Amino acid sequence: MNICVIGTGYVGLVSGACFAEFGLNVTCVDKDKTKVDSLSAGNSLIYEPGLNELLNRNLKEGRLRFTDDLKKAMEQSLVIFIAVGTPSDESGQADLTDVRQVAADIGRYMNDYKVVAIKSTVPVGTSRLVESIIRENQAEEHSFDLVSNPEFLREGSSIEDFMRPNRVVIGARNERVMAIMKDLYRPLYLIEVPFVVTSNETAELIKYAANAFLATKISFINEMANLCEMIGADVHQVARAMGLDQRIGPKFLHPGPGFGGSCFPKDIHALSHISRALDYDFKIGEAVIQVNRRQQELMVAKIESLVGNPDNRKIAFLGLTFKPNTDDIRDAPAIFIIRELLKKGAGIKAFDPAGMDNARKILPEVEYAGDAYEAAAGADGLVIATEWNQFRNLDWNRMKGLLRQPVVADLRNIYEPARMKELGFIYSGVGRQ
Ligand code: NAD
Repeated sequence: MNICVIGTGYVGLVSGACFAEFGLNVTCVDKDKTKVDSLSAGNSLIYEPGLNELLNRNLKEGRLRFTDDLKKAMEQSLVIFIAVGTPSDESGQADLTDVRQVAADIGRYMNDYKVVAIKSTVPVGTSRLVESIIRENQAEEHSFDLVSNPEFLREGSSIEDFMRPNRVVIGARNERVMAIMKDLYRPLYLIEVPFVVTSNETAELIKYAANAFLATKISFINEMANLCEMIGADVHQVARAMGLDQRIGPKFLHPGPGFGGSCFPKDIHALSHISRALDYDFKIGEAVIQVNRRQQELMVAKIESLVGNPDNRKIAFLGLTFKPNTDDIRDAPAIFIIRELLKKGAGIKAFDPAGMDNARKILPEVEYAGDAYEAAAGADGLVIATEWNQFRNLDWNRMKGLLRQPVVADLRNIYEPARMKELGFIYSGVGRQ
């Protein structure tokens, strides 16, 4: 089967390369010519474990190609995936500019029956909107079906997540298109991945519901962490004991500086916006947003209480990305915290294994180091903001010699408080003594 994927970001590129790995003929389309050229040459431009290998293998075996010519890509494709970005606008709602643009182009270039599958995370009702935009733009009438096929992959483990997902959600309005989608995902059927087949609107809501729930779990444990600090309790033990209850489960109970990334913040804002438009007061969603912002502010206060007045202090940051194994810094807590400290007059020297190229574009005032020790040299305190494996076994004796004050704010709780104190550090994690 020939398919095309529009948008070669984290979702579109990984989906395209994985579908090619399933044996399909895939054309990936992006409006960014530089990206297209780089991808055609086998360089993914984004940091994602295993992606370059997958990309090059499928390019070489001729199942994967890249272009900025949507018309040509569509001609031979039965299924067209939309995987463009849907960022938040200033009001918090999903900005559908790119989705609308792509829908208009799809309508314009349609030459035969097509299945149009929306992989981007979009508000409920978007499949109807895309359907009507396609229809309005068709030069000749061709039939088509709209599928809502939200994506659940996580950056940092996206290939494994695509190849072995917990579930595949397909929202569609008729049997014919369901059969085509099942054919497309046949390798996942064979490994018994559960399929949730439903209406387009339900599929659209499922994605937001899942992300909002995960964000809620994080904000909940962060509130417990804050209480632990006041009570003198240990949030790791609270989380562990909670997680052993099978009704709760251990995942997403890690306290830290608040959630970030390109999905949770924007999706929970979008779901709140959807609710407001329906005149429904989504109280939990609003609270999760507030708790997350407060958590990031509390981290700034924590750093200040350890390091002292930030004015003219030098603070070392380890980690800029919102999680390890990605170069994505969109809405990363580290970025918010650094900006606040810069406003207060601090100088920041940072190191991140993959995120520094992206960070340089939005934080030119930060000094970037070649490794963790270079970042720490001469600093008044060290902040661990992302739990990269590279930061889990630092040489603390060496660090102590480099730092001006032996101060560590471990916002990801990767070290043991007692051990750090033994080593002579003024140390604080999140929600631990
Ligand atoms: P991204 O910003 O990394 O990539 C979007 C790509 O679309 C860019 O390369 C851009 O050039 C391209 N594009 C925009 N308009 C285009 C057009 N008219 N024609 C061709 N290409 C166009 O986005 P992403 O992180 O891959 O996210 C895509 C969607 O998937 C979003 O809705 C997001 O919420 C959702 N999602 C993301 C993740 C994730 O982890 N990043 C996970 C699940 C779902």
